[in-house]
Amino acid sequence: MKNTNDTNVLSKNTKKTGVSASMAKSPFHKLFVDGLKDIYWAEKHLVKELPKMSKNATSEELKSAIDGHLEETKGHVERLESVFENLGLKPQAKKCEAMAGLTKEAAEIMEETESDTMVRDCGIIMAAQKVEHYEIATYGCLTEWAKQMGHREAAKLLYATLEEEKAADQKLTDVAENDINEEGMEE
Ligand code: ZN
Ligand code: FE
Ligand code: FE
Repeated sequence: MKNTNDTNVLSKNTKKTGVSASMAKSPFHKLFVDGLKDIYWAEKHLVKELPKMSKNATSEELKSAIDGHLEETKGHVERLESVFENLGLKPQAKKCEAMAGLTKEAAEIMEETESDTMVRDCGIIMAAQKVEHYEIATYGCLTEWAKQMGHREAAKLLYATLEEEKAADQKLTDVAENDINEEGMEE
């Protein structure tokens, strides 16, 4: 029987984590773990990228929305580390091309708009909401898959992050509607 390193780690931890060797080898479980690696990379990347977006924002409301979510995002990285540990795995990141692209798009918007304008803030909000929507889709699936496979603790952790991503998205909508869109149009 072929014995990969991953399987070794998992079978040693079977008692503690409840991940059986057969489940660890299932294609569905592999898809789940690959999804975790992808979003782990994405969250760590966002910890570096969100400060650039905040720095480029003009309105205090938008800056504080982004800064607040930066702190939450650091928590998302830690939660994912707990999820990996819970599954008996070492946290591992795999480049998320989608998040790399979304943050590249944010950088382009910031280059192509004038500094200190509400138009730039509108652009930053759109870029940030695209990021949140990617995360919401990811955590929504990962939470359901974790539940499906009986990883209850992992499902709880992933759900907690899902709720924070949804709240961050709503907060950006509120900032746009209350503070920024109208001014952007009048510039
Ligand atoms: Zn996040
Ligand atoms: Fe991805
Ligand atoms: Fe987020």
